[in-house]
Amino acid sequence: MTLLKFLSRSSGCITSAETVMLEKQSLDEFLSNIDKGKAIIVSLSPQSRASLAVYLGISPLQVFKKLTTFFKSLGVKAVFDTSCSRDLTLIETCNEFICQYKQSQLNIDEKSNPSLPMLSSACPGWICYAEKQLGSYILPYVSSVKSPQQTIGATVKHHICQKMGLRPDEVYHVTVMPCYDKKLEAARGDFVFEMEQGDANKNSLRITEVDSVLTTGEILDLIKLKAVDIETLDDSPLDKMLTNVSEEGYLYGVPGSSGGYAETVFRYAARMLFGREVEGPLAFRSLRNMDFREVTLEVDGKVVLKFALCYGFQNLQNIVRKVKMGRCDYHFVEIMACPSGCLNGGGQIKPKPQQSPRELLQSLETIYMENILVKDPFENPLVKSLYDEWLDHPGSEKAKRHMHTEYHPVVKNVTAQLHNW
Ligand code: SF4
Repeated sequence: MTLLKFLSRSSGCITSAETVMLEKQSLDEFLSNIDKGKAIIVSLSPQSRASLAVYLGISPLQVFKKLTTFFKSLGVKAVFDTSCSRDLTLIETCNEFICQYKQSQLNIDEKSNPSLPMLSSACPGWICYAEKQLGSYILPYVSSVKSPQQTIGATVKHHICQKMGLRPDEVYHVTVMPCYDKKLEAARGDFVFEMEQGDANKNSLRITEVDSVLTTGEILDLIKLKAVDIETLDDSPLDKMLTNVSEEGYLYGVPGSSGGYAETVFRYAARMLFGREVEGPLAFRSLRNMDFREVTLEVDGKVVLKFALCYGFQNLQNIVRKVKMGRCDYHFVEIMACPSGCLNGGGQIKPKPQQSPRELLQSLETIYMENILVKDPFENPLVKSLYDEWLDHPGSEKAKRHMHTEYHPVVKNVTAQLHNW
């Protein structure tokens, strides 16, 4: 169960306005926008590709190419890969971490003005919990970098649509994600901007970075609805404008099926702060369970970097408790609400009959890295060109405006609480 479902059942803290917004994110809405003549752009997550690949018995790259054929037959204009925007997210997170780490070294009284640990921000289930249940004591520790979904949303609506000769209001941007929590994320007011219409009254339009989120399971429903035999469809060339494809046909990626935040930031910090190149796989040690692991870097016998992966609600509560008591000695924690991370999200395709959830998860973990070329995000040529053409450099004013966000403690409304009694 994702945190969104947990919270909605346990505390009534999904507002009625949010419920209405979520209802708009459906297959019917997606199909009706195609009929309205909007330019539809679909951005596909790597976890969704893996889920469909296991279900269909083909590779994730074939899934991508055949889904491109399928979506374009419905009238979709372009199909992108959110791994590309994830690299942008990772670079901004690396940059933010270095600043925070240096700040923590300068803070004379680190206890009263702490800047670490930095807690990752890509999981909306975790963010929803932090804002609605934990509030002001935890939010200053959460990275300000948007998730890959919202990063690709900002990139499409602020930059790519212009390159395609379209206005943001002419584009309907849909992401395909492993969980329902992403729908709530897309509906946040923080991810809406105003655009002047250019008429005499100077009226403005409200533009949403991501107009709709469909889960992997909903894409399978769409395939069934259209009675399409995906395996027999031709492969289409991939849209390279926002998809990292190497000359050999591999997709760029990072280790870590939930984004590789801890891994990427750890290597970068080791190099930038201590001049150490960390070669080979990182030596994560399991603590309480496989969903709570840590890795350290020692210099001259002293631990200088201590990072953790923390997945699932129980492990997450443990970290939160330590932060509250001022006893969390991690520098960075990659937090994901789902046990085993995003491959196990609530929107993924369910196990087939005779297949246990554990078997399915193992298949997903095996297939996830298929067709992937592991690359340093800083070496991604598409991301370099996004900085050159649009964002200037990591941490620039433009990058802060488009790639970062803010979190807000949510005061529960009395009606919602009473309703829950
Ligand atoms: S861990 Fe991943 S799949 Fe689960 S709620 Fe968070 S973002 Fe969604």
